[in-house]
Amino acid sequence: MTEWVSTTAIADRDSEWRTNLKNSLRNEQWSTSLQIVVDKIINDESLDHEDGLRLFSEQNLFELGRLAHLHKVAMYGQKAYFNSNVHINQTNICVLACRFCAFRRGPKADDAYALTIENYLDELSKFSPYVNEVHSVGGLHPEWTVDHYSELFQTVRKEYPHVSIKALTAVEIKHLAEISKLSIQETLEQLKSAGLTSLPGGGAEILNDDVRAIICNGKESSQEYLDIHQTAHEIGLPSNCTMLFGTIETTAQRVEHILRLRDLGAKTNGFQCFVPYPFLPDSTRLPMAQLSTGQEILRVIAVSRILLDSIPHIKAYRMNIGDELAELALQFGADDIDGTVQQESIMHLAGSTTPLTYDLQQLSKLVRDAGSIPVKRNTTYTEFEEYVPPQPIKRLPMA
Ligand code: SF4
Repeated sequence: MTEWVSTTAIADRDSEWRTNLKNSLRNEQWSTSLQIVVDKIINDESLDHEDGLRLFSEQNLFELGRLAHLHKVAMYGQKAYFNSNVHINQTNICVLACRFCAFRRGPKADDAYALTIENYLDELSKFSPYVNEVHSVGGLHPEWTVDHYSELFQTVRKEYPHVSIKALTAVEIKHLAEISKLSIQETLEQLKSAGLTSLPGGGAEILNDDVRAIICNGKESSQEYLDIHQTAHEIGLPSNCTMLFGTIETTAQRVEHILRLRDLGAKTNGFQCFVPYPFLPDSTRLPMAQLSTGQEILRVIAVSRILLDSIPHIKAYRMNIGDELAELALQFGADDIDGTVQQESIMHLAGSTTPLTYDLQQLSKLVRDAGSIPVKRNTTYTEFEEYVPPQPIKRLPMA
């Protein structure tokens, strides 16, 4: 099965999935609290901040999950998406020091590193036969300008034309623009011409400047994050968006975050996927934060799916929440589990123990175990193929 469906086409199918959803919602019994939300969806009313708070405080997690799952089924049936990708974090040297970050290093730290273009290509060459995407985010290197990244991306595209480049978070774009003395648009245009395929969503944290002043002081403001993504969408670069929850934010701030992303998604149609992930605390960074429970993570994923009707995909980011919860999340509104990843530093330095050795076969098993159909996708969600594991070789009986 190979389908070609652009994100725009998914949006065009809006009325189709909404009709499917309304039909399935009418066929189920809902508790009084959820019925208020269900009635609004059936009547084509936009869900608001109060609805978001209502969903977050819903007592019956399984009913909330059911509502989110019906959204997912209306959009994609039983399909769940993943890709074959590799993460290469190009440098851990960063001029900022966000309080939640376990990855960054100062330039003089013993374990500070910055991959040269040659190092980067060597790293990619180990995985290039098996992957169609390289995902690269890193620290804000004090000397690397947009020209450095342009050269890197051009070389990657030349050497490995089958590999898409998903790279550079909004704060990295802002930093590059500043040190290269370019506007955001000029920076993005130059990177796109060099081969950048899409932007990852990292760095959104919580889109509330009071929270940001405490957990990531010095990073781009919440409006800057949105503006950078809007500019990317306007020049034809799709992007993902994220939410780091479980630091110091309130439920109302989570809802505010999700609705701000929903509004931009509705305006530009450029967001591909929303990736909510919990902070992985330890005793040194943000000691006031508590590890999110499995229930809380599933609740965030479910609420996101229900509220974010302008963003096609919701990812259960297995590098952060682990494979067991990612599998469950596919029944709570998520339709994507990221990819093979192969190597990853940011979440693993913060405490993740998710295996990095999964191949497509193991990923597809995870998806099938969750009752879903594994579908391999490309970076921009425009090419899909059901993943069928290779058949074991049949041995002929001995004569
Ligand atoms: S989160 Fe990003 S910008 Fe903040 S300190 Fe870590 S690497 Fe630097």
